[in-house]
Amino acid sequence: MSEKSFNEIKRGKLPQKKLQKILKSYVEKNFGFTYEQLSAESTRIEAKRLIVNSSTKHTTRKVIYPGTFDPVTYGHLDIITRAVDLFDEVVVTVAVNPTKKPLFTTEERVRLLKESLKDHHKVTVDSFNGLVVEHAKQVGATGIIRGLRQISDFEFEFQMALMNRKLAGDITTIFLMPHERYTYLNSTVIRNLASLHADVSNFIPPHVHEALKKKF
Ligand code: ADP
Repeated sequence: MSEKSFNEIKRGKLPQKKLQKILKSYVEKNFGFTYEQLSAESTRIEAKRLIVNSSTKHTTRKVIYPGTFDPVTYGHLDIITRAVDLFDEVVVTVAVNPTKKPLFTTEERVRLLKESLKDHHKVTVDSFNGLVVEHAKQVGATGIIRGLRQISDFEFEFQMALMNRKLAGDITTIFLMPHERYTYLNSTVIRNLASLHADVSNFIPPHVHEALKKKF
């Protein structure tokens, strides 16, 4: 293309017909196919881009947060709030572990979680019996959220994450850290303190506190 034509195109001064003629010959000379073929190809690329964009727009990023939640504490709720900020949907899953003897039944733990999370429209609560990765797949989640309080959690969590990756390579474990004020908090400590009638109201929501009082 001559410099004169190029400058004319840049300035937008060329009449439509002349512009098309210049573009046609430029495309044919430089790209080895006709201008019509190029337009068809561009349309295809644009269509593909629109399809890809619209499909990624509608992909919801769903994760599950499995645990015993016996009972739910402010530490768990801190992790859930962080997960809600990062993902479109969070499924909080009460693990039914036949080898454990929880204080609260599965139904009670689900109910206490639901009450704690009733204002979070991106969160659902359910329970499952079996492999976490299987449940993740069943609900359409691509990630597993786990909370890391301190180094002592790390070894066990690391082992579990690697095992889950072996079982299902397409499910990723994501670790989140709670606020420092919850790093020493766990459900066992809460149950023990409550059994001794200590005040645990700073660590659990009021309705969980009420439910605990009824157990002891
Ligand atoms: P725990 O009995 O130790 O509270 P759960 O099985 O109920 O444990 O915990 C489920 C997940 O939540 C685990 O990843 C655990 O590390 C995490 N978690 C429990 N308590 C806290 C807390 N206070 N802060 C952050 N994460 C927590």
